[in-house]
Amino acid sequence: MTKEMKYRAYTLHNYKELPQIKYLSPQDIEAIEVVGRVLPFKANNYVVEQLIDWNNIPNDPIFTLTFPRKEMLSEEHYNQVLNMLDSDPNDPAYKETIDTIRRTLNPNPAGQEHNIPTLEGESLDGMQHKYRETVLFFPSQGQTCHAYCTFCFRWPQFSGMSDLKFAMKEADLLHEYLRQHKEVTDVLFTGGDPLTTTSRILSTYIEPLLTKEFDHIRNIRIGSKALSYWPYRFLTDNDADNLIELFTKVRQAGKNLAFQAHFNHPTELSTDVVKEAIERIKSTGAQIRTQSPLLDKINNSPEIWAEMWQKQVDLGCIPYYMFIARDTGSKAFFEVPLVDAWKLFSKAYSSVSGICRTVRGPSMSAYPGKVAVRGVREIKGEKMFILNFLQCRNPDLVGIPFFAKFDAEATWLDQLKPAFGEEKFFYEKDNLLGEGTDNKEIWGLA
Ligand SMILES: *Cc1c(COP(=O)(O)O)cnc(C)c1O
Ligand code: SF4
Repeated sequence: MTKEMKYRAYTLHNYKELPQIKYLSPQDIEAIEVVGRVLPFKANNYVVEQLIDWNNIPNDPIFTLTFPRKEMLSEEHYNQVLNMLDSDPNDPAYKETIDTIRRTLNPNPAGQEHNIPTLEGESLDGMQHKYRETVLFFPSQGQTCHAYCTFCFRWPQFSGMSDLKFAMKEADLLHEYLRQHKEVTDVLFTGGDPLTTTSRILSTYIEPLLTKEFDHIRNIRIGSKALSYWPYRFLTDNDADNLIELFTKVRQAGKNLAFQAHFNHPTELSTDVVKEAIERIKSTGAQIRTQSPLLDKINNSPEIWAEMWQKQVDLGCIPYYMFIARDTGSKAFFEVPLVDAWKLFSKAYSSVSGICRTVRGPSMSAYPGKVAVRGVREIKGEKMFILNFLQCRNPDLVGIPFFAKFDAEATWLDQLKPAFGEEKFFYEKDNLLGEGTDNKEIWGLA
């Protein structure tokens, strides 16, 4: 049995107390001081003791995943902050500089504000309903994580930019919305990390969904990185048994508890604690699916992905999505061109058995939907990307192949142009995505 560990966070305020501080060079420390003021920074004792290889700093993948590094900001932004390091954090000029830099980093990508549903004319800020079957719910108490990923696109939620914060306290609103939307089969609890909240709060949201009036809700889904960043959540934390009991209740009510685990690197699957936690979650009858973005400097090789999928399957998890990193925050540091993402995916996918090939991608969560890069082909002398929707605002468009001019540098959908000299992609025509969506500006496709 795992020995208990008491959670301890390391942030900008106390990272100098790290027992491993001696491994950081003055340059590494300067980078933490500078970049940590713009992008969120939080690690914890499990991550620093059991996941990071301190003899491989700064290139260690888990260090890069959780600690600020110089190249995560542009040189110009870096120097701007460096010159203000001694400012009083409450100084308006300092605050304005930080805010301005953050705003240039596209803090709210893919028009997420367009997914907020309404109930009797009021907008429900703690929810997103983009794809017919699935409602995302952001418990307001779960807008944090056990550690922060340096690539995170949810970062405005952690950085005190409160006007962008999706938060909803009232479980009543969620339930009322679901009562009125019988087409919804899945509720996906997300954040931040919803498992930073107590089991009691989670029960307030989840238990009512197990009653007869919510027969249409088939899948209770939880998106979480706690298995990577704090597996003690499922084993020895005060609240661990209650959480396991809640998962069991969902199963006993005849519903699927689908756990969506974020794993970015095979190291996160290697400790005894994580293996035990996975076993315990699965013992409730819950399923664990896995997902990650493809990230340069962290997991940019087919061997890493193949190893990750194989390890996941060894542990009884189901590989689910490979994402393209979103256009936000430190994107320039982590980005991989679409063509390379496709090559990497194909190589990794073809090197594992069919059991691992439940994974889909590489996929971009863009305004119109989740768009997968299926391949590159030359057709009648024109080189192009073949794409399709894995998810779409208009479910009728899912699975239909479409074509974009080949572009070796493109890293996101908005950089692609239709192939065959067309002016628009098929989904941009005839108002196929519904009211108002013909507007290229809203789409970021102009
Ligand atoms: C990815 C995503 C979902 C879930 O999609 P699945 O394909 O069912 O996993 C739901 N809502 C939004 C906004 C998403 O981005
Ligand atoms: S766990 Fe998810 S929400 Fe939390 S910092 Fe990482 S990517 Fe962002």
